[in-house]
Amino acid sequence: MSKETLSFVTPPPPKNYKISSAFSYNFKLALTPYPDECLYSIFCRYFVRSGSTSNKRTVFELFGEAQNLASLVYLPRRLELVDGWVGSGSLITREGLADNNSCYGYFSVAFTETMLQEMEEKIVTGGSNRSLERQMIQKCSRSYWPEYLQYCPECTKEDIESFGETYWHRLPQLPGVEYCPKHGKAIQNSSVYLKETTMRFLPASHTLRRMDEKEKAEKWMHKEKYLMIAKDSEWLLMNGRRLKGCKEVARKYKELFMEKGLTTAQGIRYSLQ
Ligand SMILES: [Zn+2]
Repeated sequence: MSKETLSFVTPPPPKNYKISSAFSYNFKLALTPYPDECLYSIFCRYFVRSGSTSNKRTVFELFGEAQNLASLVYLPRRLELVDGWVGSGSLITREGLADNNSCYGYFSVAFTETMLQEMEEKIVTGGSNRSLERQMIQKCSRSYWPEYLQYCPECTKEDIESFGETYWHRLPQLPGVEYCPKHGKAIQNSSVYLKETTMRFLPASHTLRRMDEKEKAEKWMHKEKYLMIAKDSEWLLMNGRRLKGCKEVARKYKELFMEKGLTTAQGIRYSLQ
C-alpha cells in the first residue's frame, strides 16, 4: 500500500456510542500528555497500560468505530470525544491537545478563513465536524509526510531519564526537520512505517529500545540550514495558530515584501537590482 492510498476518512459514528465512566477514569489515570507528544503516542501509551491485546478492540473503545490512527500523529482529530476520554473539569482539554499534542498550529497557517473558524469553533464547543476533518487531511498533504516515525536519540534518552519511558514527539515527524533544534543531533528513522500506524498502536517505548545515530553527509553539509528549518517548524507548532490562517499570512508576507521594496500594492516588482 502506498502512502497515497492511505485513507484517513472514517465512517460516521454510531448513534449509541458512549464512553463508559470506568474507561474515562482509567484513561485519565494513565495519561497525562508529555511535552511535544503527539496524540497517536498518547493512545499508544493507553493501549500498553490498559493491558489490551487487541488493537481493534482498543480503537473501538476509544472512538466507538474504526479510526485511522496514522492521522493522529499530525492532526487534532475527534476532539469531540475529549470530555468523554478524560471527564469534564480535567486539566486535559481540547485546546491543550490541539495546541500541545498535535501539529494544528503548524498546519493552520495554510487554512482558509472558513476552515480556521470551524476548527476554532470545534475546539471551543467540542462539536463533531467530519467534513472539516476531511478538508484538514487534504490540506495537510500527507504525501510530504516522512515514511517512518522519527526520533532524536538525545530526546529519547532524556525522556527515559525524566519520565521513565519515551514517546513519539511531534517535531521530528514534520517534513524538513532533519536535526533536533535542542540537541543538534540528526533525526533518525525508527523501524515503524507511518502506514503501519494506520491500524496499530506501536509505542515508542517498545520501538526505540534499539536506536541509531546515523548522519548522512549530504544533510550534515547543510546542517545549519536544516537547523533553521527545524527551529522555524518548532516556532510554527507553538505559534502558528496565532497567525490566523493563509489569508493573514499572505497579507503579512506582502507587508514584509513591501518594506523591502520587493513588491508594490499592485504586485511583485521583478527587478531585484
Ligand atoms: Zn533532541
